Amino acid sequence: MRRLAKLYFYYASMNAGKSSNLLQAAFNYGERDMRVSLWTAAIDDRPGFGAISSRIGLSSDAHRFDASTDIEGHVLREHGEEPLACVLVDEAQFLTRDQVWQLARLADKGGIPVLCYGLRTDFQGELFPGSAALLGIADSLVELKSVCKCGRKATMNLRVDEAGRAVKAGAQTEIGGNDRYVALCRKHFSEALGG
Ligand SMILES: [Zn+2]
Repeated sequence: MRRLAKLYFYYASMNAGKSSNLLQAAFNYGERDMRVSLWTAAIDDRPGFGAISSRIGLSSDAHRFDASTDIEGHVLREHGEEPLACVLVDEAQFLTRDQVWQLARLADKGGIPVLCYGLRTDFQGELFPGSAALLGIADSLVELKSVCKCGRKATMNLRVDEAGRAVKAGAQTEIGGNDRYVALCRKHFSEALGG
């Protein structure tokens, strides 16, 4: 009988340690000689493109997904060669809705636990497509907390320009590195945007 496997969504604002958490989980599996499949978004143009790296210095190679990637097919092939203990997905906010359902099937039919890590909302406070789908159908939602300058929980991501000024308009995805975003509580996010 197959073990029941779950689809998890670990969501947070910027700089809450998502990648560190993911890499720690991968390390723990590796320590027990259990194989994992690591994924990250292909749209990231930061140094170390294609790798998952955390601000505290951990990093690991990972498969890259874009909107056309058949993650389910790829993982099932890997799993067929040698069983996987779990699938770990960083930057899960960039998954398509269809890919989130692929990951759900990997848990439900493949019996492989899937742990997704991503931002809940963008710089305008809107859900990312991948996050919306995960919030809708994941078995388990876990919030990773970071702190605003005022000490409240930071739930929002303010985009700032080179001079540190709040950016109000632009594309949802514009990755310029962690220094272009500031994690704030809703009150201070709203004030920064003139609300
Ligand atoms: Zn605050």
